Amino acid sequence: MSCTLRVRWILIANRFPRPWRSCSRCGTQRAFECSGKFRLNANGRRLDAWLVYKCTTCDDTWNHTLFERRSTRDIDPDLLSGLEANDPALISRFAFDVAALRWVAHRVEEFAGGVARREVLGERPDRPKRLEIFLRLPSPVSIRLDRLLSMELGLPRARIATIAKKDQLQTTTRLNRLAVNGTRVGIELSQECGETILLNATRDPIVHCARESELAVD
Ligand SMILES: [Zn+2]
Repeated sequence: MSCTLRVRWILIANRFPRPWRSCSRCGTQRAFECSGKFRLNANGRRLDAWLVYKCTTCDDTWNHTLFERRSTRDIDPDLLSGLEANDPALISRFAFDVAALRWVAHRVEEFAGGVARREVLGERPDRPKRLEIFLRLPSPVSIRLDRLLSMELGLPRARIATIAKKDQLQTTTRLNRLAVNGTRVGIELSQECGETILLNATRDPIVHCARESELAVD
């Protein structure tokens, strides 16, 4: 049996990105917060759709255009019902579309997040000697890799750096860069803090994914 324990961490941002725009009421650049609601306007067979944002200072609204004057026949029925129901998953999809927000905002503020779910991939060795962590970010999360590892593994950042220097920790993204989807981290568990790392890397919420189809790590 392999002595490597493989886990996947799924990271979720703790809040939606905030576009900064000029607020007409405040007369200056302000952060706008997603309201969690769509606005639709039907004009004959044409439909406009927006995601509504609010100025964090004065509550003035700004409508982020999703599409304009689109024929209702060309709109996917699932999309339409999601828009009408303010479906949270759909709100999330548009609210995390940082690339689209960048087109219409002075800048976009992204937020840190944490591990929402941990999954053991395949067999769990009795005494693992090595841990491999695969990061999955379904939506953008703005957190440096060393900060994430420090927070999640319960070790100071300096300790993480020391382990990396000794080549007992390898990463596909540099430690001082933002964690990205697909980042891989390998850690030797033979060192003195190996037990702490192991306990924290696999603490709740954790699930076991034994089926082949779930083993895809990216
Ligand atoms: Zn304002």
